[in-house]
Amino acid sequence: EFPMQRILQNACESHPNNTAITFYDRKISYQELFHASLAFASALQKKGVQKGDRVAIMLPNCPQYVIAYYGSLTTGAIITQINPMLVERELQHILQDSGAETIVILDGLYPKVKSVQQHANLKNIIVVSLQTSEADFQPDASFDQFMKTGDGKINPVSIDPENDIAVLQYTGGTTGRSKGAMLTHSNILANVVQTYEFFKHELKIGTERTLSVIPLFHVFGMSSAMNLSVYIAGDSIMLPRFEIEEVLETIKREQPTTFPGVPTMYVALTNHPKAEEYGMGSIQVCNSGSAPMPVELLREFERKSGAKILEGYGLTEASPTTHCNPAFAKRKPGSVGIGVPSTEYKVMDLGDGTKEVASGELGELVVKGPQVMKGYWNMPEETAVTLRGGWLYTGDIAKVDEDGYLYIVDRKKDLIIASGYNIYPRDVEEVLYEHPAVQEAVVIGVPDAYRGESVKAVLVLKNNKTANEREIIDYCRANLSAYKVPHFVEFREELPKTNVGKILRRALREELSRK
Ligand code: ATP
Repeated sequence: EFPMQRILQNACESHPNNTAITFYDRKISYQELFHASLAFASALQKKGVQKGDRVAIMLPNCPQYVIAYYGSLTTGAIITQINPMLVERELQHILQDSGAETIVILDGLYPKVKSVQQHANLKNIIVVSLQTSEADFQPDASFDQFMKTGDGKINPVSIDPENDIAVLQYTGGTTGRSKGAMLTHSNILANVVQTYEFFKHELKIGTERTLSVIPLFHVFGMSSAMNLSVYIAGDSIMLPRFEIEEVLETIKREQPTTFPGVPTMYVALTNHPKAEEYGMGSIQVCNSGSAPMPVELLREFERKSGAKILEGYGLTEASPTTHCNPAFAKRKPGSVGIGVPSTEYKVMDLGDGTKEVASGELGELVVKGPQVMKGYWNMPEETAVTLRGGWLYTGDIAKVDEDGYLYIVDRKKDLIIASGYNIYPRDVEEVLYEHPAVQEAVVIGVPDAYRGESVKAVLVLKNNKTANEREIIDYCRANLSAYKVPHFVEFREELPKTNVGKILRRALREELSRK
């Protein structure tokens, strides 16, 4: 048991000259990264930041992110990671709720942060500039100036890994108001080790290169694109945004060996006309999570890249991974695999959730393990509903097969009830993804005076393909029970997504029920 930041010190001791981060033409070794994190930590202490104080990081993927993350942990501060795309209202909620006094931001976010400062507790704004030389935003410090105020000498702080919070991670808000999950040092470290244990047959210490384009501010990116890479003394090749041509060029130039991603990223890569010309052959293993990976997409991506996709499952409240398809045993496409080490799981009835259901039956997934959060920040009632008897109630409907493999069927909140039938959007989406013209598909329930809800599919078609509503409905008729067939099909250029690339069902549902 040791504090999270120790993994950086370990990598620095074992592989000081290995590249820790590649950022365009910049390379940073483990030694440099470790010392930069100490400089940042001592600069924070000079500003008066103490153990337990909240430090917010609102940056895209870049070296300063990692420096601020490990530097803040070294002081015992609690990190609040904030999505740079949030609008003022959402940002204000997180700043007020967390009570952060310090924030590290990208220069372009300065006006947004300033506009909410009077409603928050912010005292220190540290500004990172990625474009040119760092702009000087007096009286606030630029990142480089700030670093110079630190001498690397740290006033020792004692951290209790089991109880001290390392990260206050606000949930994505896909389904509702954002809550702060309290993740301790042990929670986060446990998940890095659990993931490593699962992948260790595929990962070699000191040589892996991770394509880190999934955002670090999201718990999946934090764990798989940053912390796991540090744990295995690998090189994290960072890109601040997912721009398909740039991603393909980076793969060609940097030859990453692993690529944690979300399904929409694999969709974009699979369907890009030049993907094969660029080549994705260096990638050996991909860890997909955050949203369901349609089986057809998994097969197509693997065919085009030669890589192996291991789909996993997790949630913010579990730092995040609880399940994954193993690299060392049978992989089942469509399933999210088995529990990672030390993780227990069972499926409970959909009523009050007190009875375990039989194998193969649907119910709510509950999990227990060292990665499960301490609770929600300042929300005892929500904590009591979500953590019951040490079990985390995930809100996801799932089933477990005879081999213990888990299938996520849907979120409880996404279930469509039409004419009394329960329809799981996922069943319909899997069929739509098999249609040759479909690039992306989402299925939601729209209000219907007669049926309660009706099934509606919203589709994005592949570039050179066409299809009309009739054809899609006929296709579904041939492949689905009648009650699941969409009544309406709408075609769009793109689907609304969160910054992590998750399709925003809630936004679509709200928009379509207003019509
Ligand atoms: P909020 O919890 O606020 O609604 P969010 O959905 O963005 O926001 P996260 O913690 O980022 O919250 O996402 C966790 C959820 O993502 C899980 O509960 C599950 O519904 C979904 N999920 C994650 N991995 C998978 C997967 N492999 N297959 C299906 N669903 C997944």
